[in-house]
Amino acid sequence: MKVSTRLLAAFLGGLLLSGPVAAQDEEPLVIATASPSGVYHVVGRALCRTLEMPCRAQPTDGSSANLRALRRGELKLAFAQSDLHLYATLGTEGFQKDGPDESLRSVFSLHNEPFTLVARRDAGIHRLEDITGHNVNIGNPGSGQRGTMLRLMDAEGWSRSDFSSIHHLPADQQALELCHGNIDAMVYTVGHPNASVAKAIRLCDAVLVDVEGDIVDLLVDAYPYFTRAWIPADLYGPDQPAVHTFGVKATLVASADTDPDVVYRLVAAVFDDFERFKASHPALGVLTPEEMIRDGLTAPLHKGALRYYRERGWIEEDGMVPETD
Ligand code: GLU
Repeated sequence: MKVSTRLLAAFLGGLLLSGPVAAQDEEPLVIATASPSGVYHVVGRALCRTLEMPCRAQPTDGSSANLRALRRGELKLAFAQSDLHLYATLGTEGFQKDGPDESLRSVFSLHNEPFTLVARRDAGIHRLEDITGHNVNIGNPGSGQRGTMLRLMDAEGWSRSDFSSIHHLPADQQALELCHGNIDAMVYTVGHPNASVAKAIRLCDAVLVDVEGDIVDLLVDAYPYFTRAWIPADLYGPDQPAVHTFGVKATLVASADTDPDVVYRLVAAVFDDFERFKASHPALGVLTPEEMIRDGLTAPLHKGALRYYRERGWIEEDGMVPETD
């Protein structure tokens, strides 16, 4: 009796002393990614591995969904394409109704995401203009590829009626639908190589199509967040030629409310062992810290990230990036 009372007291004491604190400590950091078949998810998992704290990469609907959830306070850290990152910051394009997001913060930018057009070999799609009149997947609501595609369709003056049918499939389903002949083409704004494109090319002999022309030139010339991009030859197999297109950058974003210590620890973990982080996906191989804290970022830098960049001398006290020779 005595023993069990003591045990109970110890148990309750333990609960009182360490219960709530321990539970809070163990709350994992969630990094919102996108489809499990994309590059964000691979990089999100790599970020978690570098951190010495409980952390989980969480698949989501993609960039637009992440930016909205971040604004609603449902996320702390997320990936987002640089075009949508800019629209969310300023409250333009698809984010017009939301208005400018003053609480959005940049952490750093990452790999290039070429706008990728994949078509069935027998669909007769040899260039961008050929997709009209076909069954095309523009991506699930909330995905980044859908945001970029809608912008491109708008610039081209294409509406849904210019296509035989428009589909809204997520990235991890589109390859299979292409193989089954339910869609003729799919688009994906994504780093390379990735599982979705690899599946379409390897399983059903699909082809990558150049995304070029006057409208693409116009977009790249008019908007600094669109750049020329290419997918190297032979990345998906020996017969795959180099592909020319336009693209954006992947960025990591946070909310102004995200704990600065957590952001500091994450940024420090990435840059203190930068070569190891870059080795986590081939798309990261060309990254440099200089570009990562400069390119593709519209929202102000998060203060936890800024603290680290200042300590490294990458950003001066006035927030300017120091001149280099
Ligand atoms: N750019 C895509 C999006 O925002 C995701 C690409 C990826 O998962 O790597 O939705």
